[in-house]
Amino acid sequence: MKLKIIGSGGMFQIPNPFCKCPLCEEARIKRGRYERLGPSLYIEDIKMLIDTPEDIGVACDRQV
Ligand SMILES: [Zn+2]
Repeated sequence: MKLKIIGSGGMFQIPNPFCKCPLCEEARIKRGRYERLGPSLYIEDIKMLIDTPEDIGVACDRQV
């Protein structure tokens, strides 16, 4: 079974808007893999997306 992690963040995206913590500040500067969207998983064998957070559209768009 082949799984693809679409989002690996927690319940808040990183960088979280207006947050000044070191993690969010680093993600704001470096972007790319430092940014995290809400957690979701894609099972390729059955083409099923599991756990779709609010930002799933952005997360899926990044997969292309
Ligand atoms: Zn933060």
